[in-house]
Amino acid sequence: MRAVVTGGGGVEITAEHVVSCTGNFARKTGEMVGINIPVIPVEHQYIVTEPHPAILEREAKGLPEMGVLRESDSAWYMREENGGLILGPYEHGAPVCYVNGPSDESEYELFQEELDRLMPHIETAIARNDVDARGSEAIYNEAGELVGRATNGTFGFRINRSLALAMLRPDYAKEGTKLKIKILGMTYNATVVGESPFVPENAALRA
Ligand SMILES: Cc1cc2nc3c(=O)[nH]c(=O)nc-3n(C[C@H](O)[C@H](O)[C@H](O)COP(=O)(O)OP(=O)(O)OC[C@H]3O[C@@H](n4cnc5c(N)ncnc54)[C@H](O)[C@@H]3O)c2cc1C
Repeated sequence: MRAVVTGGGGVEITAEHVVSCTGNFARKTGEMVGINIPVIPVEHQYIVTEPHPAILEREAKGLPEMGVLRESDSAWYMREENGGLILGPYEHGAPVCYVNGPSDESEYELFQEELDRLMPHIETAIARNDVDARGSEAIYNEAGELVGRATNGTFGFRINRSLALAMLRPDYAKEGTKLKIKILGMTYNATVVGESPFVPENAALRA
């Protein structure tokens, strides 16, 4: 394929490469040029909460929107939406829909909700009580003085712990020092580790 012809004016655009980015219509547009594109859309349900006082308070203070929280183990994301939150699970085995592409009328169609399918995700979202640093989070000593800032962070799957890289006042950069880190408005306990936390036998990932 070396060219596309637009619908309206019938203008031909030639190109060395043509990229099809037709989303849910990918199979349909693939078929138009004799290519089988092996992707099928699936239903995605998400839950939008009522506005939450703590989020409204952040908005009133002019604070920026909070980061999107993604939970890999239980497969969902959570983010702000209109003063409340959206919980969007990535369901394993979500029902296939639009196998041959959405119909012309399907743009604003809503699916029938099936909350039972979402319950495992909702339960883990309710139980979620920790979060990883992403950078710039304030770090305090036990007296509440600012003693450093995180520069980055992630979840350490091999050791089953949240990890943060941080710049600390030198007197606090000692193995075992107990500190506090503030992430998305909540304060969590943190401990300075000596070496890179590495598990050579990789037991957690092999379990
Ligand atoms: C209700 C809803 C809420 C969402 N919320 C979020 C969200 O909060 N965050 C997020 O990250 N994602 C969200 N998504 C998903 C996000 O919108 C999609 O992942 C994203 O739009 C996909 O982009 P795309 O460019 O691949 O495809 P699309 O945005 O679907 O674009 C494909 C385009 O191809 C065009 N097209 C198809 N066939 C042809 C043809 N034959 N000729 C010419 N043009 C054609 C279509 O008209 C369309 O404009 C949401 C989706 C929906 C439906």
